Amino acid sequence: MRHRIIVLGAGYTGAVVAGRLARRLRREDVAITLVNAEPDFVERVRMHQLAAGQDLKRRPLSEMFAGTGVEPRVAQVTGVDVDRKTVAVADADGAGELAYDTLVYALGSGWDAQGVPGTAEHAYEIAGRPGALRLRERLARLGAGQSVVVVGGGLTGLEAATEIAEARPDLDVALAVRGELGDRLSPRGREHLRKVFGGLGITVHEHTAVTGVEAERVVTAGGEAVPAAVTVWTTGFAVHPIAQATALEVTGTGQIVVDGTMRSVSHPDVYAVGDAAMVMGPGDRPLRMSCASGTPVAWQAADAIAARLTGGKLPNTLIRYFNQCISLGRKEGLIQYVTADDRAVRAVLTGRLAAVYKEVICKGAAWGVANPTLGLPVRRRRVTRGRAAAGSAVKATV
Ligand SMILES: Cc1cc2nc3c(=O)[nH]c(=O)nc-3n(C[C@H](O)[C@H](O)[C@H](O)COP(=O)(O)OP(=O)(O)OC[C@H]3O[C@@H](n4cnc5c(N)ncnc54)[C@H](O)[C@@H]3O)c2cc1C
Repeated sequence: MRHRIIVLGAGYTGAVVAGRLARRLRREDVAITLVNAEPDFVERVRMHQLAAGQDLKRRPLSEMFAGTGVEPRVAQVTGVDVDRKTVAVADADGAGELAYDTLVYALGSGWDAQGVPGTAEHAYEIAGRPGALRLRERLARLGAGQSVVVVGGGLTGLEAATEIAEARPDLDVALAVRGELGDRLSPRGREHLRKVFGGLGITVHEHTAVTGVEAERVVTAGGEAVPAAVTVWTTGFAVHPIAQATALEVTGTGQIVVDGTMRSVSHPDVYAVGDAAMVMGPGDRPLRMSCASGTPVAWQAADAIAARLTGGKLPNTLIRYFNQCISLGRKEGLIQYVTADDRAVRAVLTGRLAAVYKEVICKGAAWGVANPTLGLPVRRRRVTRGRAAAGSAVKATV
């Protein structure tokens, strides 16, 4: 029997873990299954583009992992039993169960309606492909002059408002933010943002907390009603409730608590990466949900699993921030340089060059999923006797 590694979620982090493990371990020693709800790798960082009407390249998992030793399995994960070491899945053929020796939990996150009344019924979201496609279809039906209100002043809100305004200059696009526009950016970053928003004709409602969403408007804490034929909700991400329903130690927000090797602090045969994990970063601050930090986290997890199974040295991957790359439509961008713990510094890159830079980053992130060892030579090592979990293959080291 081979050591069974099951990776849940083929997003930016899960796909990297699966692919990297396949390049680190021998096929005769491990069986790597990658379970994902959709048959494709979805470039989540481009969901605002999809919603605004652009067509994205399809990246079928079956092609991406062909010949790698990773077996993609298209199924919905419905539960995890960490005591029995099983995963409950459902697909077109019905419900089933998969047993694992090592589990990697990488189910990412969805949108966070934050309990605001009317949001679930009336708002649109772009946290994943189904939501983005629903918004795309709705935007296509809007007539000239109709209003779109994007709620949330984080990076996703900035990208969504500018993308929609650029694609549909005939619409009346507004952004509602709790504080000031771009208040986590440097003064130069904020100035650039104001210029681009002004140029695209986006109305910015600052110091505005939206407390209710209705079919044709949003209501603010100040009692104002802002017309909104379409409301796009981008106030943050929330993790899926599956981990919270297990015996795993999770935070109040449902993220799995892990150590520096991305191993669950409560269940050593479970690892968690990406949005689903609570990972402490530089300055002892939790990493924010992002590809920027999720990718090195995935490298760390894969290399730690491989090291533990083969008796190698535990890795110590550098996990830090360098910049925040923000697209502002297809022709404009903003690269805000940051400290290791993600605080804005003075330097920024703006304009067309920043838009190209961001595009290169998005392409690079997708390339990195298909090339999880960054093009370095493949070094497969044997799983060593006694290191693999119970019930798995044990082979002599070579
Ligand atoms: C519009 C937008 C723009 C963004 N821009 C940036 C950016 O510029 N830079 C940046 O660093 N980050 C950005 N992010 C955040 C980034 O996309 C996420 O932090 C990142 O995708 C997290 O990676 P992950 O692997 O944890 O999860 P995901 O990439 O979300 O992958 C999770 C996978 O799990 C699958 N899944 C979920 N639930 C189940 C289930 N029950 N059963 C089976 N499969 C399931 C999903 O289909 C998906 O394939 C952006 C996000 C959005 C929405």
